[in-house]
Formats: sequence, structure tokens, C-alpha cells
Amino acid sequence: MADKDYYQILGVQKNATKEEIKKAFKKLALKYHPDRAPEDTKVEYEEKFKEINEAVSILGDDKKRQQYDQFGSAAFSGGAGGTGGAGFQQGFDYSDIMSQFRSGMFGDFDDVFDHLFGGSGGGKRKVRRGSDLLYETEITLEDAHSGISKTILLNKLERCDECHGKGAYEFESCHHCHGSGYLKRTQRTPFGLFQQTGPCPYCHGKGELPQDSCKNCGGEGLIRRKKELDVSIPAGIEEGMRLRISGEGEVGDNNGPSGDLYVQMHVQQHELFLRKGKDLHVTVPISFSQAVLGDEIEVPTIDGKAKLTIPAGTQTGTILRMRGKGMPSLHGSEKGDQMVALHVIVPTKLSKKQKELIKELHEEKPQHGFFKKIFTSAFL
Ligand SMILES: [Zn+2]
Ligand SMILES: [Zn+2]
Repeated sequence: MADKDYYQILGVQKNATKEEIKKAFKKLALKYHPDRAPEDTKVEYEEKFKEINEAVSILGDDKKRQQYDQFGSAAFSGGAGGTGGAGFQQGFDYSDIMSQFRSGMFGDFDDVFDHLFGGSGGGKRKVRRGSDLLYETEITLEDAHSGISKTILLNKLERCDECHGKGAYEFESCHHCHGSGYLKRTQRTPFGLFQQTGPCPYCHGKGELPQDSCKNCGGEGLIRRKKELDVSIPAGIEEGMRLRISGEGEVGDNNGPSGDLYVQMHVQQHELFLRKGKDLHVTVPISFSQAVLGDEIEVPTIDGKAKLTIPAGTQTGTILRMRGKGMPSLHGSEKGDQMVALHVIVPTKLSKKQKELIKELHEEKPQHGFFKKIFTSAFL
């Protein structure tokens, strides 16, 4: 599926500052707000509006922007086989943003922007999905051929068990908002004074205030912990591929779901085999006499030695195909092949007897049969 170009959607450069992104978003959000769309372009406007919101929610967040720059929009799509745009749902509530725009009378973009990026601190008691994590791991070509289970060590934020993620043991109803989590405030806009209900800044919209602080997590509610995780790496995995392990990212805010863990593969270069797609390429030396007379030899394959017949009259550089001796496919279809390039070694140190035999061979005028062929290319 094609990657979405969020920079292009917002019409900004790849190195745009946060301020430039914010500006571009403002301009487009005003232009394409569905409430302003002429009747016959409503659907179009709504699509465009969704698109710019999606773009800004990635590019406006430093961490997500970095992931996007590295992996493209696929990093945010929901799982294998997910269809493009549908994947990006987590942590982004479109209807909520729509209502914010409505209540703000198009005047309060900064609040909406901060809300999107969780910036201003006074956010509603909003459930948020935790961040995704990226873990890089190295495997051998043999591992990639057979598949392997690997234990990886993560160091990630988890919910504190002692306070159940609340940061404190005792709470009291917030007396500023009487436990509702919301406070009314009056706002001056170009359209006049508006009374708006917003999250209570004292309890951050939680409706209650902590009476103490959890000793285990220092009141954060979260704690960084080492965790071992067994990851099953399927046979046929390729360099640069990522496995998505659902729910093993960092924990979400306010008991929100955890993010996902992406395990990125680095397949080591092999000293013998070169992988090209599903095929493996290997070079095998053979002697001059094996090349001339033919032979059955043993060649290395990725899962042990195998026999290979060399036909008489083999030229150096000849490539023989060994079917099914390559890499498996991730999707279970046919295995690749092993391509064996034969390299004929010309002897440099000869015994006296060997020298005489070669001389004799040289003086023999090549006339018929395969010897003629060999001599034509090798000696003349
Ligand atoms: Zn309050
Ligand atoms: Zn705690």
C-alpha cells in the first residue's frame, strides 16, 4: 500500500518547524472544516479534514514524527493486512476534535492543537494509548532460514502496581470543580463573550486530588521496568522487516491501552551465502580435472551439505541451480533455490609428474569431441 505523505498533505517542507506545521494546519483546517463546506462537497471536505488532522497528529508529535520519517505511515497502520488509512485510529478521536472545533467557533485553534498533542497540561481525563516502541535485533541467515524464538530485554514504562497507576494511595474529591473534573470559563472571542466548559486545571480533569504520593513510583503512576519477552521470528524473514507485537509498547495514560512493540530485524551477512530474494548464491571452487571430466561433489547449503553433479566440460563461472535449497517464503509458498557458481582453480604448484602430464596434454592437438571444446576456450 502506498505511504501517505503527511508533509505534502499539510503543504510543508520535510524540515518544517513545529510552528510552521501548526500554521499550515490552522490554515487548512479553517478552509476544509466540514461545517463550512458547500452542500455538494461535504464528503470531500470531510475526507480532506480527516486527512489533515491525521497528518498533524503525526507531524505535530516529535516521537511520532520521527517514527514516520523512519518508517512511513505504515508505522501507524493497524496490523498486518490493515487497509491504509483505516489503521490510524488509536489515540486520535476524530469526533472529539470536531466537537472542539464547533464549541470553539473556529476561534480556539491553539486549544485544539494543544489538545491534539497533549500539550497544555490541563487535558480532559482522556484515555490515551501508550507509545509504540521499536526494538532492533540481529539474527543470522540460518535463523532467518529456520525461524527462531528469541528472548529480548525491554526497558519500558509500565503501570505502577502499588498505586494501580494513580500515583497516590488516598484521594479526596476536588473542591474546585466539586468532583466533576470540569470548570466553566468565560472566553473573549471575535464573536463576543463565550462561556465554555473546560477541564478543571486543579485536578487536571480527574475530579479528585491526591492526598499523598506513592512511594514506589514517586507519584507518577508509572514505573520503568526491565521485561523479558519471547519473540517468535518466522522463517523467511528479511532484512529490515518489522514484527508488530500488539500491546507490548508503553502503557497508556489514565488506564488507556498500551502501545505496540515493533521488532526490527537485521539479518547478518553470511560468509558463504548471498541472499537475493528467496535465492541463495554461493561460489564453489572445483579443480581443473573435475571441470574437464565431471564429478559429484559436496557443496554447502544453508541447512547442511548436499551432493551436486558437475557435468564434464564445465567452464569456470558456470552456475548450477539447486531447486528448493534457498530461503523459505514468509507466506508459505515455494522455497527459493540455491545458485552455485563454479570456479575452476588453475593449479599453481605442480609436481614434476603433473607438469609432464600437462605438457603432454598441451602437445596433444585438440581435434574432436569435448576436448576440442575445452582446449579452444582454455588454451587457444
Ligand atoms: Zn477539579
Ligand atoms: Zn505508584
